[in-house]
Amino acid sequence: MAVRRITVLGATGSIGRSTAALLEAAPEGSFEVEALVAGRDAPALAAMARRLRARIAVVADESALPTLREALAGSGIEAAGGQSAVLEAASRPADWTMAAIVGAAGLASTLAALRRGGTLALANKESLVCAGPLVLAAAQAAGATLLPVDSEHNAIFQALAGAQPEAIEKIILTASGGPFRTASLAEMRAATPEQAIRHPVWSMGAKISVDSATMFNKGLEMIEAARLFPVTPAQIEVLVHPQSAVHGLVQYRDGSILAQLGTPDMRTPIAHTLAWPERMQVTLPRLDLAQLGRLEFYAPDPERFPALRLCRAALEADGTAPAVLNAANEVAVALFLARRLGFLDIAAVVEETLNELGHRQLSDLESVLAADAEARAAAHRIAARRAAA
Ligand code: NAD
Ligand code: MG
Repeated sequence: MAVRRITVLGATGSIGRSTAALLEAAPEGSFEVEALVAGRDAPALAAMARRLRARIAVVADESALPTLREALAGSGIEAAGGQSAVLEAASRPADWTMAAIVGAAGLASTLAALRRGGTLALANKESLVCAGPLVLAAAQAAGATLLPVDSEHNAIFQALAGAQPEAIEKIILTASGGPFRTASLAEMRAATPEQAIRHPVWSMGAKISVDSATMFNKGLEMIEAARLFPVTPAQIEVLVHPQSAVHGLVQYRDGSILAQLGTPDMRTPIAHTLAWPERMQVTLPRLDLAQLGRLEFYAPDPERFPALRLCRAALEADGTAPAVLNAANEVAVALFLARRLGFLDIAAVVEETLNELGHRQLSDLESVLAADAEARAAAHRIAARRAAA
């Protein structure tokens, strides 16, 4: 393989660090790093940039730039800060970009990287949820390759193996069920941030961990799947699978089901996108099926996990509804993590925001950003009302 130039957006996060670990373990000379982008953790970003010998390191939060400059002094690595620097970094020539900023905050840089062309490995599912048609159009216009990093979508992408759309009967996303898989409603009502982010199988950032606990993560992933794959919403199913060994399945019209399995470690799907269409050597513990013994699958409980219903409704309404849902969820999760909202209130705030705002046509980026801003304001209002009640 020729040397590939890499950019990582969201470099200091859970996915960003897993990506960096793969790059560091790769044979010398297979990759060179162009840009590393983070929110505000300048010390961690600078250390990573030195290890990976990046050309430029960027913090989105400009107030962290002096620390970044200082930490990179004498390294020859350029330092920059602010949202325009993030977009400039995402637009620099690169063969492969990891989009791993969390939330709708990643949308602009996802679009910038796609417009530049090359391969975009997409972990930032929120950008597909908010602005799916725009993201796909940007990829198509630039001839960019969009590869799904999210483990379920990466699994389905692998199990699709280039199949004809009409051959597909349905796709199945698996969910671990999160920390409250067997909890009662009363236990969930009293859940703390510590309990919600203590995921039984996966180790991830705080926001997606809470999303896993509410199952908004799986709901967002249904919307993500509807954008990525040639299926209707009715052809997307969710199954709870506590072992998290089977990540995704495709059922074909002849009755065959193809699945992808692996340990719950994001380095496997990231490596798949890094080497695609080839495969690279990854030395991680292998999935030991005999030791695992059994694989269980259950239908999700709609009463304790209303997020799935809300996400399906937003997907079917389409337009700006998924952007409204996503923004309301981001606000509610942040309030929950700050102990200003109860766990079960997260879905309630999202539902009320959707009801209050309805949805409009998604025409361009401005319509997405307007829906996002309006939904954030409404969600804050609704959450404050609930907290006061
Ligand atoms: P994280 O919170 O661990 O990391 C987020 C990264 O984004 C950090 O580097 C942070 O500095 C950066 N960031 C935050 N706000 C920013 C902003 N405004 N501008 C620029 N950078 C900003 O999150 P994560 O768990 O790594 O998840 C990242 C994305 O990948 C999310 O969209 C998540 O849904 C998706 N994802 C994560 C996993 C996982 O296992 N962690 C699995 C599947 C998908
Ligand atoms: Mg996932």
